Amino acid sequence: MLITTEEIFEEFEDLDPRDQSQYLLELGYDLPDFKPEEKRDCDLVSGCQSQVWLRASAVDDSDDPAIDIVADSDAQIVRGLITILIAAYSGRRASEIVAYPITDVFDRLNLRQYISPQRRNGLQGMVDRILSLAVELSASAVVMTPTAGSHAEEPTTAATVTSADHRPLDADAVKAQFPVLTQTLEDGLQPVFLDSGASAQKPQCVIDKEREVEEQYFANAYRGRYRFGARIDEELEASRAIIARFINAASPTQIAFTPGTTATLNMIAFGWGRKFVHAGDDIVITMMEHHANFVPWQQLAKERGAHLKFAPLTEDGRIDMERLSEVLTDRTKVLAVSGTSNVLGTNNPLKELARRAHDAGAIIVVDGAQSVPHLPTDVQDLDVDFLVFSGHKVYGPTGVGVLYGKADRLEEADPILFGGHMIDQVGPHESTFAQAPAKFEAGTLPIVQAIALGTAIQWMSDLGIDAIHNHEQKLLEIATARLSQIPGLTIYGPATEHKGAIISFRVDGLHPEDLAIVLDRHAVLTRHGNHCTMPLHQALGVSATTRASFAAYNTEADIESLALAIEEAISTIPRGRDVAADGGVG
Ligand code: PMP
Repeated sequence: MLITTEEIFEEFEDLDPRDQSQYLLELGYDLPDFKPEEKRDCDLVSGCQSQVWLRASAVDDSDDPAIDIVADSDAQIVRGLITILIAAYSGRRASEIVAYPITDVFDRLNLRQYISPQRRNGLQGMVDRILSLAVELSASAVVMTPTAGSHAEEPTTAATVTSADHRPLDADAVKAQFPVLTQTLEDGLQPVFLDSGASAQKPQCVIDKEREVEEQYFANAYRGRYRFGARIDEELEASRAIIARFINAASPTQIAFTPGTTATLNMIAFGWGRKFVHAGDDIVITMMEHHANFVPWQQLAKERGAHLKFAPLTEDGRIDMERLSEVLTDRTKVLAVSGTSNVLGTNNPLKELARRAHDAGAIIVVDGAQSVPHLPTDVQDLDVDFLVFSGHKVYGPTGVGVLYGKADRLEEADPILFGGHMIDQVGPHESTFAQAPAKFEAGTLPIVQAIALGTAIQWMSDLGIDAIHNHEQKLLEIATARLSQIPGLTIYGPATEHKGAIISFRVDGLHPEDLAIVLDRHAVLTRHGNHCTMPLHQALGVSATTRASFAAYNTEADIESLALAIEEAISTIPRGRDVAADGGVG
């Protein structure tokens, strides 16, 4: 006679927390072993770290039969989990199993604390296997989809997205949280940091989090059952869940940690694109794309014999939606666009673009590197297929980024990196791969960075992405008005209502590099060059621009410092050598 759920609860709750995990292990000792011939491949449960064989069968042929479950595993902890499942489900009718709140059992036994996320996936695999049989056998049942002991895996809804609303942002108080911005430099100045478009600075809480992980519990992820490993897994999954909520992904399983935007766009182009883009198909991008969302598609088009097409732009640097159908046709397989241009600042109408792409039978890939840090992003509302962004532009660390995909897109995309952690089964000649997100996370993750990315995103959520956006938009208006008064200064890109917090400009006769030297003398830190957008700069008819990009910590005083430094450069540098050709972007 096997143990019942009530008996398990009683024994478990009597134990010291230290002995509880041992108890879960010991629970499996009495589970009958499968004979070797019973360990059939067709009964293997996928998603498990260890081998698990599970068979669920009807014990009678009524409309709502009782179900018998037998299972075995080569890992003792999994045998413990099997015992819990059998205790909960055994002897119940199919309809009862479907309705049974199995997560309550998992919660009472604290499985979230005692088993790793990967094990929870395996447990979920077993639950899914039992439920699918129960659903099949009980046609009238209402399906609930319990999740294996992890709040981090709960689906997110729009209501759970933290967005702190209409509170205005106090930029001085925000700046005070950034040690790098509040320091006094060797020349007595404080930095006026206007290059957040390249990389944002990090608030103290993100720096502290990285330090906490390194100093207190660093270990590799998804490997060790010792306490550091378990803590790392929890922290990573918590970070994943924070990111999912921030962009309103339906589930944290749709969020993969990647090295950054560039790597992720390559993963999509060569993981999804290589499979679905064929000779003669079209890929549509725009001339305003960063090389990261340009060169992978260009190379994929060359490899597949497909055509790379460019959505027409208006003279002021927006996608010309009226002429979009000139290139977006039923031959288009992919529309790849940036949420916000890193030079023109243009905010592209993603929702409308997604609709147009889907109407044409294409998918839409969004390079969110410049939009996710500044604009509310709701991937479900936008209905985008893939969206990617980088940690270092959202106040987080370098070396980590995010791949979001619709569940079907992630399922159909192939991995492009193969190795540890991303596999399901490996044989001498064939391998099968894990479900997303593990499929896209081969090898050791940038663990500390991925955890601290969650802290950065939580920091943004606490400030409120709407508040950040409104603040930056105000700075954009003020800066545009102030810089426009400077004679000979040209700002590229559309009017402020179509833009994010980026101003790229040139001053007649003044090379951006010369200007940068004077700006730096005033500790006004901007970027100059082509900003990884050579085709766009060619279309603009200039080789380089100066770019000032704003973030939550910038103030009106920063803008005045920029304007004064530009005015000084104009009055001190002999001009006339660098005359920009006049060009539009259309
Ligand atoms: N896309 C855009 C729009 C960007 O601004 C950047 C960063 N400059 C990238 C892609 C590349 O991001 P990463 O260098 O983090 O891969």
